[in-house]
Amino acid sequence: MEKYLSQLNDAQLEPTIQVNGPMIIIAGAGSGKTRVLTYRIAYLMSKGVDPFNILALTFTNKAAKEMKGRIADIVGDSEAKNLWMGTFHSVFAKILRFEGHHLGFPSNFTIYDTQDSQKLMGSIIKEMGLDKDIYKTKQVYSRISSYKNNLVTVKAYFKNPELMEADAMARRPRMGEIYKEYVDRCFKAGAMDFDDLLLRTNELLTRFPNVLAQYQDRFRYILVDEYQDTNHSQYLIVRALADRFQNICVVGDDAQSIYAFRGANINNILNFQKDYDGVKMFRLEQNYRSTKNIVGAANSVIEHNKTKLDKVVWTANDVGEKVIVHRAMTDGDEGRYVASTIWETKMNQQLHNSDFAVLYRTNAQSRAIEDALRKRDIPYRIYGGLSFYQRKEIKDVTAYLRLILNSADEEALKRVINYPARGIGQTTVDRLIVAANATGQTIYDVIKNLDSVNININNGTKNKLRDFVTLIESYKVMNQTANAFDLAEHVTKTSGLVRELGKDGTPEGVVKMDNVQELLNGIKDFVEGQIELADAGDSLAEFLEDIALATDLDGDKGDPDHVALMTIHLAKGLEFGHVFIVGMEEDLFPSAMSMNTRSELEEERRLFYVALTRAEKQAYLTYTLSRYRWGKLIDAEPSRFIEEIDDEFINITTPLKERFNPMLDASIFGDVEPNRVRFAKPKTPKIQKKEMNKKPENFKISTPKRLKKIDNSKTDTTTYNSDLTVGRTVNHQRFGRGQVINIEGKGADAKAEIKFQNGDTKKLLLRFAKLEVL
Ligand code: ATP
Ligand code: MG
Repeated sequence: MEKYLSQLNDAQLEPTIQVNGPMIIIAGAGSGKTRVLTYRIAYLMSKGVDPFNILALTFTNKAAKEMKGRIADIVGDSEAKNLWMGTFHSVFAKILRFEGHHLGFPSNFTIYDTQDSQKLMGSIIKEMGLDKDIYKTKQVYSRISSYKNNLVTVKAYFKNPELMEADAMARRPRMGEIYKEYVDRCFKAGAMDFDDLLLRTNELLTRFPNVLAQYQDRFRYILVDEYQDTNHSQYLIVRALADRFQNICVVGDDAQSIYAFRGANINNILNFQKDYDGVKMFRLEQNYRSTKNIVGAANSVIEHNKTKLDKVVWTANDVGEKVIVHRAMTDGDEGRYVASTIWETKMNQQLHNSDFAVLYRTNAQSRAIEDALRKRDIPYRIYGGLSFYQRKEIKDVTAYLRLILNSADEEALKRVINYPARGIGQTTVDRLIVAANATGQTIYDVIKNLDSVNININNGTKNKLRDFVTLIESYKVMNQTANAFDLAEHVTKTSGLVRELGKDGTPEGVVKMDNVQELLNGIKDFVEGQIELADAGDSLAEFLEDIALATDLDGDKGDPDHVALMTIHLAKGLEFGHVFIVGMEEDLFPSAMSMNTRSELEEERRLFYVALTRAEKQAYLTYTLSRYRWGKLIDAEPSRFIEEIDDEFINITTPLKERFNPMLDASIFGDVEPNRVRFAKPKTPKIQKKEMNKKPENFKISTPKRLKKIDNSKTDTTTYNSDLTVGRTVNHQRFGRGQVINIEGKGADAKAEIKFQNGDTKKLLLRFAKLEVL
């Protein structure tokens, strides 16, 4: 352990070895908060604390896995295995498996993912005959989610005139009824959605003091990473559990609170000292992640926020390169710049693809980047899209598995009752739902008891329904003895799923089939990792729980050497050598939706701070002059955030733009916050505006005669150094002087063979070579 402790600076060491009592570490990005948490856990164990008594809550499963791996390195695998470590959702899902029966849930309850929840809400809206253009499923979903995260139960909702009025004002007066029906249906289906995992845990700990006492006694040491982004529900759980021993250590950075829109409450971190007695507060100031230029740039940006704690962040790392600001013409051009810069940097500096990340404000922006990376054959991976387990073909298989474990699971049943097609139409399903609602039975039970239910279904269909139940029952029997893999394989074959997919000879169909195979492989791995579990049924349940809570960040399948593409929200806590932040434009970042109040704008700025501080060596900011948005090509303006960075930390490679003059526009950041007034971007000086409004068509890059630099920011219409001829002397940034001995290819593919004075002969793609013709 001593060896590891010596890897901490003094400020980090102090909280690491402070064993007891409540403590908080507030510190800026990259200062080692996560490292302290990790080492602290190892330290506690080295001091004899039983891993069973330690609970560590992280923001992503990936973070938990990494932390556990690191701790295993220090204290050994077998000890680390017993730690309770994971996201709030995964840890409390486990607890609810044991304790959910107090609340009337079966231990094999299903976890509805967002798709399942939204489907159920959609059908409720339909059953209630409501206008789906007013009761938009996604909006209804996020509304209900926010009630839950604020612990507003159905009962509490109907006691809250303000909430009801707000919904009525939004032309959705029947929200409460939908909410109630949704909760009832989940309960009947033996299902919990993501928010329930927290809400029901709170309910459990509040209503059952014995259960609370048991877990308080168990979790004697509690640690929480990214505490600034906990919501009310999470906050209460932590407080309840820590109440007895008060050995709670939370770490966070108020400047990185970026989930307010989903109910995270920054006050949880600000008020921590009030919540516990004798809180010890620690600060870390030294950043180990980034260069001086990146730290300086990030500090200068966050300075513009009014609501913040005073913090110092400095680094002893190299000065490094300045943050590069690049102007592109269109998003296609922006993508090409990103791809070519990655390509060039990778070559020049001998880097891996995984040293690069491209971050954006909204998922839609990934398309142009993807196109460009694909053209250059640069492997990439999009995080946070549809996760593997949410693909249709995968959800179809897992729906069968879910139904085997929990036949009350309404969404699973609806998914597979007629897939593959077995002649059970939607009308029949609708009638089954009506009958189920009327009799209080589950749909599955209605089918089982068809003869005793008054239902208008013809005999032919009744037989098909009976066949379906027989099929599922046979799987249930098999589940008593077989392991999850054998069962899953059997199901895909005998349900007709594989046959169905096999009929689809298109490339997409083949991919789907491969995906199902991949799922089976995954189950096999899982089963093999779980041999010690004697009960076969358990392994299936655990597997389904794992995948229900899997996010796209977790299952890093495939070649690990890829460029990472993700939204900034997802990048929290991560780090990469080179980071591109694309779409640095007004109305995109900051988002047009987040400029109505100062607090919204400040959250956008914190988001930018998070983005910048992911970079270790080099950060790039790109913006375009015009961008397709809402189906139209619109003029874009550089983001105000670019202008907020101190000059000394950035390098504007396309120097058409003058810097923003804060003196001219100081009034906009005046003290009084106008109520709901759009926080317009400060006016930019005239010349700059004129330059920026130029359309891409009439926009030419003039290159000074004497200094012919190949500028990789040019669009593809540019010809690359067409006047370069054999025999010319050139200068290359890294290789120095040389003579052109051959030229091949045209335009974007033109290459020159150059014999350099140092003796090397190199073939260089002119687009990247940055040659100066002398
Ligand atoms: P964020 O706010 O982004 O979550 P953080 O405060 O959690 O950042 P870490 O991720 O723990 O910071 O650390 C940032 C980087 O610095 C990591 O690569 C970590 O390994 C490294 N690091 C932290 N402390 C030290 C140290 N004392 N010596 C060397 N490297 C360190
Ligand atoms: Mg961290």
